[in-house]
Amino acid sequence: MRKKLTIALAGNPNSGKTTLFNNLTGARQHVGNYPGVTVEKKEGTFKYKDYKINVVDLPGTYSLTAYSIDEIVTRNFVIEEKPDVVIDVIDTSNLERNLYLATQFMELGVPLILAFNMSDIAKKQGTKIDQNKLAEFLGVPIVSTVATKKVGTNELLDEIMNMAEGEIEPKKVVVNYGKEIREELENLEEILKKDRPLAGKYPSRWLAVKLLESDEDIVKKIEKSSFSEEILSTVEKSTAHLKSIFDDEPDAIIADRRYGFISGACSEAVSRNYETRHTTSDKIDKVLVNRILGLPIFLGLMWLVFRFTFKVSEPLMGWVEMIQEWLGNIFGGLLPDGSAIQSLVVDGIIGGVGSVLIFVPIIFLLFLAMAVLEDSGYMARAAFIMDRLMHKIGLHGRSFIPMLLGFGCNLPAIMATRTIEDRKDRFVTILVNPFISCGARLPVYTLFIGVFFAERIAGNVLFSLYILGMIVAVVMAKIFRRFLFKGPASPFVMELPPYRIPTIKGLFIHMWERGVVYLKKAGTVIFVGCVLIWFLSNFPWQPKYSKDYNTLIEQAQENEELASKLENEKAFEKMEKSYAGRIGRAIAPVFRPLGFDDWKTSVGLIGGFIAKEIVVGTLGTLHSVGEADEESKTLRQALQNQKRSDGSKMYNPLTAYSFMVFVLLYMPCVAVIGVIKRETNSWRWPIFTAVYTTVIAWVVAFVIYQGGTFLGLGL
Ligand code: GDP
Ligand code: MG
Repeated sequence: MRKKLTIALAGNPNSGKTTLFNNLTGARQHVGNYPGVTVEKKEGTFKYKDYKINVVDLPGTYSLTAYSIDEIVTRNFVIEEKPDVVIDVIDTSNLERNLYLATQFMELGVPLILAFNMSDIAKKQGTKIDQNKLAEFLGVPIVSTVATKKVGTNELLDEIMNMAEGEIEPKKVVVNYGKEIREELENLEEILKKDRPLAGKYPSRWLAVKLLESDEDIVKKIEKSSFSEEILSTVEKSTAHLKSIFDDEPDAIIADRRYGFISGACSEAVSRNYETRHTTSDKIDKVLVNRILGLPIFLGLMWLVFRFTFKVSEPLMGWVEMIQEWLGNIFGGLLPDGSAIQSLVVDGIIGGVGSVLIFVPIIFLLFLAMAVLEDSGYMARAAFIMDRLMHKIGLHGRSFIPMLLGFGCNLPAIMATRTIEDRKDRFVTILVNPFISCGARLPVYTLFIGVFFAERIAGNVLFSLYILGMIVAVVMAKIFRRFLFKGPASPFVMELPPYRIPTIKGLFIHMWERGVVYLKKAGTVIFVGCVLIWFLSNFPWQPKYSKDYNTLIEQAQENEELASKLENEKAFEKMEKSYAGRIGRAIAPVFRPLGFDDWKTSVGLIGGFIAKEIVVGTLGTLHSVGEADEESKTLRQALQNQKRSDGSKMYNPLTAYSFMVFVLLYMPCVAVIGVIKRETNSWRWPIFTAVYTTVIAWVVAFVIYQGGTFLGLGL
């Protein structure tokens, strides 16, 4: 008994289906009609190896919409009869247009082979195709044929056998419709899956796409579903949402994205030595994705983004600070002086959360600038420009933007990893992002470099820290890619959706959607973190003081200077005896091999967990209060005069550098930890990140300090 096999020939009209069909079947064919419609159905059989193969020549179509009866017949046949193999016959001399249908078969998830027919004409035109590359991008085997000369028929038969016998593992490549549409699709798919019989018959992704395209035939089918109300109302909402963002019908955007996917794949795998059609987008791309100009233009744009963000946010940050101060005064006045509740509200909550809220303008503006680049279609090109470089470190072109954003703030950077499709690439990018030195670390560097390094080399020292952060990120990315997230790098298909002018509404929606995550974080995780740190550094509320300060201060009423000195001393002792002080003292020895081991520095580092710039603030508080040393009027002097337990001076350029390196690399702030939890949807990765970054920080600072000491630099 021979095994039976059904294969269907699909493709654009005049692509050569019938010629191929005749090649395969010879004379054994008959013509009938598809049930219920007057569309001709041509069938034929032939024998090959152990198989009796039934071939169906489907009507020619450009797409699989419900606009024509041919399209409906074709897709219903493929969905309902489930042929073992679908051969999409492509007119290679008109490749991009013919691949449009192929993307829809891919979406349907049918066992698909592409026959690149008319390859003789394409060749004459001067088209060269890297068939393996294209097959990899599309996730579909490709056989090139010349049906009129029976070229490639045997190869096609081999490929059919491979597929029928399950030797080819079907790869799932889906068109990237962009974040917005994808989110709506995923949402719809969830609901569609509830209808089991429906989900068993149609791939839910395909159904969802068809619904967003307002496919009448599918809508009619959905109306029969027991979930029809939920599904259709969701479709309506999604459509309205997409319309408001893109200012265009979803089906137009979807078509754009399919062509973007195709033209991206072809621009890498296909070369032509003749001029192709030039759309406006093609012309713009001639400059923006140019081999020589592409990179400088990209870097220039990024520079502009940062300039814009920081320039515009400066005054806004001043306002946030003002509001914070104002709130502090109001609540400070309302609550009893010197009480724990006053300290909690003013220092702990308003002060702590405020120091994080101050970044809100930067974050929103950064997202706004990113939205412009993304919605205009440029971001897809940027990823392509950076891809070669990023591939060297085992990452994807799309990982570059998040890395770059990290220089501003790691939090939006980690959120921006959502554009990375591949899970492994995305996780690695998230895990190494904290090493990119964010803006909040700058105050720490400015302070220590200013105190311990000559102005002449200050710039180089600062630069070296940024570079060190990047090197550690790259090395760790390589290591993670090698051991933790193994697997081949995902092939890069550059999507080239046409450029569009972004809509104002779309931009603001994008900015808001992302920015609000940061606000929520400030209201939750950061809030709790600040209260915790406040508690640690203020309790026990009434420690056992070494002196009876209250009486002494009262006695010193006349002498203002003495009174304030006593106040300071009291505050210092309170801090020293607080839980934070105790923890600082307990962990200080850990830092001895790194060159800085006093408890104040340790407390500063604990504070840095809330936000890195708090390191400076905490050091400032600790050094300003109660320092017996008269010389140490300012924090700068205090640091210069800081002594070790053995009486030697603690900070010199080497220890200062070691300290800065530690601040650069150790665990990210609580907001970043929170966002990693959110983006990876588990506590495992944020905890892992906090631990491994701190270990790396210790090791690198250790090597620098000990190596420097060995070389005699520590003097
Ligand atoms: P269909 O509409 O997809 O069934 O296409 P046909 O099989 O009817 O072919 C359309 C025309 O293209 C016919 O004139 C064929 O002779 C011609 N044709 C088909 N395949 C090839 C090919 O590989 N090379 C060339 N040069 N012509 C082809
Ligand atoms: Mg035909």
